[in-house]
Amino acid sequence: MVYFIGAGPGDPELITIKGQRLLEKAGMIIYTGSLVNQALLAFAGADCEIYNSAGLTLPEVINLTEQGYNAGKTIVRLHTGDPSIYGAIREQMDELAKRRIPYEVIPGVSSFCAAAAALKAEYTVPGISQTVILTRMEGRTGVPERETLESLAAHQATMVIFLSMEMIATMTERLQTSYPSRTPAAVVYKASWPEQKVIKGTLANIATQVIQAGITKTALLVVGDFLGDESELSQLYAENFSHGYRRAKT
Ligand code: SAH
Repeated sequence: MVYFIGAGPGDPELITIKGQRLLEKAGMIIYTGSLVNQALLAFAGADCEIYNSAGLTLPEVINLTEQGYNAGKTIVRLHTGDPSIYGAIREQMDELAKRRIPYEVIPGVSSFCAAAAALKAEYTVPGISQTVILTRMEGRTGVPERETLESLAAHQATMVIFLSMEMIATMTERLQTSYPSRTPAAVVYKASWPEQKVIKGTLANIATQVIQAGITKTALLVVGDFLGDESELSQLYAENFSHGYRRAKT
């Protein structure tokens, strides 16, 4: 069996118990070396084969996986955060399916969740935004034209932008076509790692701070009024609101 496992955002204690258990029992681990915390590899057994996929092509990863599978090994394909977000797992799953190699996916804590934790923020503050947009800017990988930053910004929802920190100046400029310039923004660098950094500002001034701090990768830009001081109380815990688990007090 092949397991695609979310390694979490960095802190080795943020992998799931299921993910850790499978790392311990794996005969082969192929990990995304560019971002996965190597400390997680300490969970591997003494005779586990370990490969860094950073320098490999898709066919090379698949060939390794197939060899391991034919040798009867439990194979872990370890991806950063949660594999469903910019994990490039679809193409791997399609290839495994063609070869009739069974696989399962074990979710992980995505970096956008670790960023909210670092900020001690709620992305879906009542009365402010009930929608979270996860996106990226087009770089060497394209983004469909109907998903331009400008069109997504029009909602003024909570937005989390991956993979784009090198373009922070253009990014914040393009967002200001719809979000007001005073909209709160934050950059979280290496969320949950010991070297984590948080920079807070507004869309108008965050780019300068990020460039001064020299942050160009392994960081997320989060934007929206959820970072501001205003909020409404939720219905979930409101005294005068009944739901399936509790009756209203009034
Ligand atoms: N599957 C991953 C995302 C992979 S794409 C996840 O769920 O988090 C890689 C991008 O994720 C990076 O460019 C950066 O924008 C973001 N990222 C990954 N780990 C991060 C971390 N610990 N802190 C902040 N951003 C991170």
